[in-house]
Amino acid sequence: MGASAEQTAYVALGANLGDAAATVRQALHALDILPHTHVLRASALYRSAPVDASGPDFINAVAELRTGLSAHELLAQLQRLEQQAGRERPWRNAPRTLDLDILLYGGLQLDDPVLTLPHPRMWERAFVLRPLADIAPTLVSAQQLQGVAQQRITRLAPEGADPRMD
Ligand code: AMP
Repeated sequence: MGASAEQTAYVALGANLGDAAATVRQALHALDILPHTHVLRASALYRSAPVDASGPDFINAVAELRTGLSAHELLAQLQRLEQQAGRERPWRNAPRTLDLDILLYGGLQLDDPVLTLPHPRMWERAFVLRPLADIAPTLVSAQQLQGVAQQRITRLAPEGADPRMD
């Protein structure tokens, strides 16, 4: 493991196969027990229409991490969790069991063959911006949220919440 100083990173979680909400909840827990890493904040779960992907609706969330892993170490850990979740990629943008992307890693700007930071498409996607705005409102402007307002997305009630209380 690198001896790098701790950084705040934001990770987007998405799943659209099987029990996608359970997969995302398990992945939030898995992030919290990564080496040198813990989850500071996790957004609510959202349900969104697939964008550039096929299959059923996605369940999405964003987590704020504090991590001593380097950005590349974190990416390797996320890819290991994706594989553990049984992700299969029979074709590009195929439905996936679990997708984990690094949105931001401190203030790092990077564009190498395996990692681009900030994530290049994060500002175009309601399923990233809405949950990110929940946990880090200063990072997302009202104008950016307005820009993705046409995309279909709904916030799910917390697990165990009584729907009659909505
Ligand atoms: P995807 O199919 O969207 O999960 O993309 C996975 C590929 O994107 C991997 O090969 C990663 O190396 C690459 N990638 C580039 N930038 C990022 C990022 N910020 N977070 C996650 N994966 C990234």
